Amino acid sequence: YKEIQLANRPEGTPSNEDFAFVEKEIASPGEGEVLLKTLYLSVDPYMRGRMRDVKSYVAPYKLNEAISGGTLAEVVESNSELLQKGDIVNGTLKWAEYNVAKAEKVQKVDPTIAPITTRLGILGLTGLTAYFGLLDIGKPQAGETVVVSGAAGAVGSVVGQIAKLKGARAVGIAGSQEKIDYLINELGFDAAVNYKSETFNEDLKQALPDGVDVYFDNVGGEVSDAVIWELNNKARVVLCGTISSYNTPGADIGPRIQWKFITTSSMMKGFTLGDYASEFRTGAADLGKWLQEGKLKYEETIIEGFENTPQAFFGLFEGSNLGKQLVKVADP
Ligand code: NDP
Repeated sequence: YKEIQLANRPEGTPSNEDFAFVEKEIASPGEGEVLLKTLYLSVDPYMRGRMRDVKSYVAPYKLNEAISGGTLAEVVESNSELLQKGDIVNGTLKWAEYNVAKAEKVQKVDPTIAPITTRLGILGLTGLTAYFGLLDIGKPQAGETVVVSGAAGAVGSVVGQIAKLKGARAVGIAGSQEKIDYLINELGFDAAVNYKSETFNEDLKQALPDGVDVYFDNVGGEVSDAVIWELNNKARVVLCGTISSYNTPGADIGPRIQWKFITTSSMMKGFTLGDYASEFRTGAADLGKWLQEGKLKYEETIIEGFENTPQAFFGLFEGSNLGKQLVKVADP
């Protein structure tokens, strides 16, 4: 079987040369371990940061070692009482067609609750990120305006829908007309604006007749510069991601924004999902309930084939995905 290793630390935009497909032999699981066949992989923007050799909230990937991330897999051999052959599990595993893991390091997935892929998206890391960032930091109130950038992506699409559930006006920012239409017609956003349009600044102002009370920022850069000038008094800015600068760190120099924060008594706060680790159950229960009640919708963009994992990852920086980007490696 094959695994994908980090061959180079990418400079700028990552490319195929930065990844190596390496042939490996399937190993038997030791005591307390399971042999897992990969079904789906999650590719995520934060992985770009881990390809850099810098200290951060997660350790960097090592050169010439497998990349790892959120994975759904099937137990094909078990040497543990915790799991049986045929069980589906979710865990942080190598980008590999097979993994051997300690049974207690993966979580069993109940495939009857929702499609299993939701565990890599709306009921997993990205859904929880939207949930905690918006509700704990943004605290949207009924009638307020919530703006979200990266709105048609995995996190952003959930942020806008939760804002609507809380009675707020949801305004999305995304990079294509198809995404704008999806946000308004499928997800019920009140307005959506294309940041690639030449008239972005005017379009944004027009979409914000009552200004901005909460800005959930997934992208940073010029998109955020434009939103910040529209903040209302006591606005809350939720710093979730800055994907516009992930390939060019250090280049993200914007206008000075302090004055706007002072004069509107606004606040800005960053977070990583790990801050909420002790509350994941509550978040996942709420998201699961809203999903079952039909109050939340989600989209997945699934690329078939393990060999296409790097392409799926590159696509995040080109906006090829609507909703959560996944790679399908094998059928259960
Ligand atoms: P998405 O599904 O949103 O995919 C990334 C999207 O970003 C693309 O589809 C693209 O959409 C947009 N994008 C790419 N490049 C740019 C650019 N230069 N300027 C503006 N938009 C761009 O990914 P996720 O939902 O998984 O992640 C969204 C953000 O949340 C990321 O910044 C990520 O790092 C962050 N995050 C933070 C977490 C935390 O704990 N703080 C946890 C999880 C995610 P478009 O077509 O609109 O350009």
